[in-house]
Amino acid sequence: MPVLDSFLGGKWRSGSGKLTALKDAATGVDVGQIPSVATDLAVSLEFARSVGGSELRELTFTERAQILKDLSKYLFGHIDEFVEVSYHTGATRKDASVDIDGGIGTLAVFASQGIKQLPDSKIMPDGEIEPLSKGGEFSGKHIYTPRRGVAVQINAYNFPVWGMLEKFAPAFLAGMPTLVKPASQTAYLTHAVFRKIIDSGILPEGSISLLAAGPTGLLESLLTQDTLAFTGSAKTASALRSHPAFIQRGARFNAEADSLNCSIMGPDVAMEDDEFDIFIDQIVEEMTIKAGQKCTAIRRVFVSEPQIDEVVEALISRLSDVVIGDPRGSAVTMGPLVSIAQREELIQSLNELLVDCRLVYGNLNRIELRDADSESGAFISPFVLVADDLLSATPHQVEPFGPVVTVMPYSQIEEAFQAAALGNGSLVASLVTRDDQVARSFVESLSPWHGRLLITNAENARASTGHGIAMPQMLHGGPGRAGGGEELGGLRSVVHYMQRTAVQGNPTLLGQL
Ligand code: NAP
Repeated sequence: MPVLDSFLGGKWRSGSGKLTALKDAATGVDVGQIPSVATDLAVSLEFARSVGGSELRELTFTERAQILKDLSKYLFGHIDEFVEVSYHTGATRKDASVDIDGGIGTLAVFASQGIKQLPDSKIMPDGEIEPLSKGGEFSGKHIYTPRRGVAVQINAYNFPVWGMLEKFAPAFLAGMPTLVKPASQTAYLTHAVFRKIIDSGILPEGSISLLAAGPTGLLESLLTQDTLAFTGSAKTASALRSHPAFIQRGARFNAEADSLNCSIMGPDVAMEDDEFDIFIDQIVEEMTIKAGQKCTAIRRVFVSEPQIDEVVEALISRLSDVVIGDPRGSAVTMGPLVSIAQREELIQSLNELLVDCRLVYGNLNRIELRDADSESGAFISPFVLVADDLLSATPHQVEPFGPVVTVMPYSQIEEAFQAAALGNGSLVASLVTRDDQVARSFVESLSPWHGRLLITNAENARASTGHGIAMPQMLHGGPGRAGGGEELGGLRSVVHYMQRTAVQGNPTLLGQL
C-alpha cells in the first residue's frame, strides 16, 4: 500500500509517525496510507516564503494569470486519470465533475479574469488618488501588495480537488505561495492532482507545497504575514480560530465551516406549476450529488403548510428512483459516503434530528444496492424527515452531512424567512417563486444571514447553475455558523492575500504607483 509523501521545500519527502489506512468508500479496499507527521515543516514554510514568494513577486498579475491558464489547460488533459482515483472517494462521474472539472474550471475562470481585469504590474491600485492638500502638492492613494508569507489552506474531505484549486488560484494571482493540507480521508486524490501539477513544471519553484500528513506543528509555524484558509466543520474552525498564530502573531484566518442551507417554496407555487417540479428536482439533486456531502447542500426545506403532503410525496416518488451502489457503475446515481466512520457520524446526527422530527422516507436497516454491499462500503439511503413545528430546535442546529433533508411547514412566508435565520448563518438559501414581491422580501430578509441567495422559476431554471454549486465568479462563504469567511467572488478573493496600504506623498509618485 503506497504511503503518501509530501512536497515540501521543493522536494518530495516521506513523513513519519503513525500510518493511517485510507480505504475505498464503496469496497473498503485499502487505497493508501497517510503518515501523522511531516518532515521539517517549519523549514519548508520558510522555503516557500523566501523562494516561492520571491519568484512570484517577480511576475506581474498578467504573467501569473497566464501561468494559471497554462496550468488549467494542462490539467484538463488529465481529467480521466483523476476521475479513476476519485471513484475511491465514493464519487460517481457526475459527482467528480463538481470536484475535478469544477476545480480546474475555477482555475480557468481566475486565469481569464486575471488576464482581462488585473494590471500588468506588481502593485494593484485601489481607487483613485485622493487630494489631501489645497495646493494639490500632497495626496494619498491606496494600493495592494502581496503578503510576504505562505497561503496555507486546510481542506475538508469532500472536495479534494476543487478545495485545493479554488484557494490556490487567488493566492497565486495575488503573488503568495501556497501550502495545501488536504483532509486525510481523501488526500490520495489531492496527491494525484498535485503530482501532475509538479510534473507539469508550469509553476515557479516554491510556489506550491503539499502537506500530505497530519497537521502537527503547522499552526505553530505560522507567522504574521501567513494566511490560513480553513474549510471543515464548525467544531474544528472554532478550535483553530483561537490559536496564538492568529490572536498573538496576527496571521490571517478565514473559515468556511458547516451550514444548514435551506430551500423555500414560495406560497404562489402550486403542484401543477413547473416551479413545483423545479423545487423537487433541486432538492433531490442536492441530496444525491456526492451523497449530500456538500457544504452547500439543502438541509432544511420550508413549504407552505397545506402543501406539505404533496411535497413529501413528490420527494418520495423521486427518491425511490435513485440507484445506490458502486460509483463506477453507469446506472448508479448515488454513491456511498466517504467512509464507514462518516456513516456512523451521519446516523448519530439523524438520531439527534429524530428527537424533533418524524421519519417519512429512508431505512437505516435495509438498503437496496447495485453491485455493492453495505458491510464493506459506506452506503446509506436518502432520508426525508418532517418537523411539524417550524420552530423545532434540532433541524436548525444539527448538520446531517449526507443525503438528509427536513421538511417544515410555514403559515406565512415571513415565518419561513425567520426560520431560515435560525440556522445562525448559512452559505446559501434558495427560493422558488414567480412572485417578485416574495423574491424581494426574501433578499431583504435573508441577505444578512447568507453568503449567497438563489431565486429560480420556470424562466431561469434551465440556465441556473443550481443551489449547491459555488461559482468562481460569485461569493462563497457565510456569516456565523458558516464560518464568517469569504472565498471566490472572482477577483474579490485575490485581495485576501494582499495588504492594503494608504500611501501619502507627492502626487507624481502616487500616479506612477
Ligand atoms: P473537519 O474534521 O473539520 O476537518 C477539516 C480539515 O481540518 C481536515 O483537513 C483535517 O485534517 C483538518 N484538521 C482537523 N483538526 C485539525 C487541527 N487541530 N489543526 C489543523 N488541521 C486540522 O471536517 P471534515 O470532516 O473534513 O469535513 C466535513 C465538514 O466540512 C462539514 O461540516 C462541512 O459542512 C464542512 N465543509 C464546509 C465547506 C465550506 O466551504 N463551507 C466545504 C466543505 C465542507 P485531517 O483530515 O487530517 O484530520
